[in-house]
Amino acid sequence: MKPAPFEYCRPESLTEALSLLGEYGDEAEILAGGLSLGPLLNTRMARPTVVIDINRLDELAGIERSDSHLRLGALVRQAEVQDSAECNELLPLLVAALGYVGHYQTRSRGTLAGSVAMADPSSEIPLCLAILAGEVELTSGRGVRQVPADEFFQGALVTARADDEMITALLWPLDPPGAGTAFEEISERPGDFAIVSVAAWAQQKPGERLLSYGVGLGGVEDRPHCLRGEVDTPDDLADLAAEISQAAVREISPVSDQRAGADYRRHLVGHLGCRALHRALQQAAGGAA
Ligand SMILES: Cc1cc2nc3c(=O)[nH]c(=O)nc-3n(C[C@H](O)[C@H](O)[C@H](O)COP(=O)(O)OP(=O)(O)OC[C@H]3O[C@@H](n4cnc5c(N)ncnc54)[C@H](O)[C@@H]3O)c2cc1C
Repeated sequence: MKPAPFEYCRPESLTEALSLLGEYGDEAEILAGGLSLGPLLNTRMARPTVVIDINRLDELAGIERSDSHLRLGALVRQAEVQDSAECNELLPLLVAALGYVGHYQTRSRGTLAGSVAMADPSSEIPLCLAILAGEVELTSGRGVRQVPADEFFQGALVTARADDEMITALLWPLDPPGAGTAFEEISERPGDFAIVSVAAWAQQKPGERLLSYGVGLGGVEDRPHCLRGEVDTPDDLADLAAEISQAAVREISPVSDQRAGADYRRHLVGHLGCRALHRALQQAAGGAA
């Protein structure tokens, strides 16, 4: 199929792009990598009046580090993050997850912000942003605001973004030194969206017995499901991982769809959750020793 007719705009500045977005609101679609938007247009599931191509907005392309986070501009491609030494050092969980996002070819164009804007419940990038307690920077003619990922994702393909707002950056808290992280996923074929994915982190502060952990579950409900907690370091980390993943199994309400039933998803959460969390806990305990 071919797209329904639309007007194509390629603004040269963020101000111009925001002014177009303010004018057209929900009749506009933003073109970043085009990997999700292209099929949506071709199948006429999206019929925008105007497509705003943001690829010339160099101000959205950078990776910037501050004391507390990495700020990834809206045009940062998924492959750039995989190749960035800074991201590999400071955001190992995200880098591990990106290996499961599509294919080399899709990652070389696809942006992180485009994936977050789509808010597919099976997407790996929104899952990582949620479990790492990241934030979405939204900009419009009215100003700039930062929305915590937990509040940004409101349902399948539903977000807190207003029609005149653009995601201008994602703010990723830096993994604390000594944190352990692990990512696990099952999909029908390599590169497909997840049936279930698990993003886990754990941290033990040097000299302390308290272990903090986080487990994010993707593909299970209509948005990332996150569990966080603190426990005294037990003698057996495998037992702790099993206990926490079984607690996760008890509190989720998995979806059923043509790819998998709720019971299978529950089984995967128990299995993958335990595996990912055990690895993260082992790294954290080893790092703090
Ligand atoms: C073969 C294939 C396999 C894939 N596999 C996976 C996978 O396993 N996991 C996964 O998560 N994804 C997968 N994807 C999707 C891929 O990750 C996309 O790159 C991503 O979802 C969208 O990013 P994009 O830059 O291409 O956005 P686009 O397609 O350009 O835009 C997508 C949507 O987001 C909006 N948007 C884009 N940028 C912004 C912005 N800055 N502010 C506000 N709204 C914006 C657009 O208006 C549009 O509605 C796959 C895609 C393909 C083609």
